[in-house]
Amino acid sequence: MIPLAEAREHVLARCSPKAPILVPLLDALGCVLAGPVVAQEAVPPFANSAMDGYAVLAADVASASSSAPVHLTVVDTVAAGVGARVAVEPGQAVRIMTGAPVPVGADAIVPVEHTSGGPDATVVAILDGSPSGRHIRLAGSDIEPGAEVLRAGTLLGPAHLGVLASVGVRRPVVVPRPRVGVLSTGDELVDDGRALGPGQIRESNRPLLVALARSFGVDAVDLGTVRDDRDALAAALTAAADSCDAVVTSGGVSMGDFDLVKVVLGELADMAWMQVAIRPAKPFAFGVLAGTPIFGLPGNPVSSLVSLALLGVPGLRTIAGRSDLDLPRVRAVAATDLDRHPDGRTAFLRVHCTWAPDGRLRAVPVGAQGSHHLAATAGANGLAELPDGPGIAQGDHVMVVLLSPPT
Ligand code: AMP
Ligand code: MG
Repeated sequence: MIPLAEAREHVLARCSPKAPILVPLLDALGCVLAGPVVAQEAVPPFANSAMDGYAVLAADVASASSSAPVHLTVVDTVAAGVGARVAVEPGQAVRIMTGAPVPVGADAIVPVEHTSGGPDATVVAILDGSPSGRHIRLAGSDIEPGAEVLRAGTLLGPAHLGVLASVGVRRPVVVPRPRVGVLSTGDELVDDGRALGPGQIRESNRPLLVALARSFGVDAVDLGTVRDDRDALAAALTAAADSCDAVVTSGGVSMGDFDLVKVVLGELADMAWMQVAIRPAKPFAFGVLAGTPIFGLPGNPVSSLVSLALLGVPGLRTIAGRSDLDLPRVRAVAATDLDRHPDGRTAFLRVHCTWAPDGRLRAVPVGAQGSHHLAATAGANGLAELPDGPGIAQGDHVMVVLLSPPT
């Protein structure tokens, strides 16, 4: 057996980021920016009002109060989207809407709430002062022209897309999300809804793995089920490697007589067959077929999930150009004894983590922990990492790899 870290390093050494491309802005969500973005324009491009109100000279209104209002002549009205036409002189005000350019001469905005008058009044009563600069958003106060607004390597979230739009970048250069083909193998698998024959089971790993990979930020595609047949497997694997940036298979990589994925991949690709010192998901295969990384996951549903989460994710995220390679690993309090027996492996117990009122995470193991217990696993949002040994006592800390955010 080899440690998990060694298997992970083996994978990382053989995965590399995809070549950057230009993509439409919305397609860049969840992608990594390939180079820095330097603003060509100021944001905002001109000084504008942060409030609906009146653009004034601060000195004119310094003494204003509701008991001693200052009266100013309204010389213009400016809306967002039009240029300011008239300069403000002492004794004057321009009625101004949020986002409209501040007229020349004005150095403060009095919000409409601090005035009385009305939209058509030619004189406005100012009921409160506004110091110089108040409620004015200066040109470049969000972004200065020439500033590096986003660094190379930024994982683009919604606000980043907004920033790119604000500086006029409509097609950023990103590392595209990897296209990952998922296929399952096994003569026992039925995936078309027909009644089960003797020895048959329903295929469940593909929807699980495709959805899981998508939830971890890659574009996964369903490549179907392949029979335990050499030629069929060779054809399916070759086609998958040809059309995808990575291939994930489940089943057929352990010690059984019909574990043909092992045989076929061994012939086609440069493979390493690993026994990883974890439970579940000990068998794991990784190799490169015609330049495409192949992850051979074990067939047991829970094992395939754990294997994808711990070994698939860092490889796939490397291909995506990401620097956050692993799922978040957080500290939680064991809500019950987390039992295991010593076997030379790290056990990953499926747990459900919730936030306790004291702000700590509590990890509760889901009921059944066998590698075929998918129904129980569906209730888990984390994998509690139990080092080799007797387990972790209730109330002690345990590290948890989060599969999805705790609630
Ligand atoms: P294998 O790794 O092929 O020896 O499979 C291990 C166990 O997982 C066996 O009980 C298989 O029937 C089961 N299994 C393999 N692939 C799938 C799948 N795609 N969906 C559900 N169960 C599977
Ligand atoms: Mg099989």
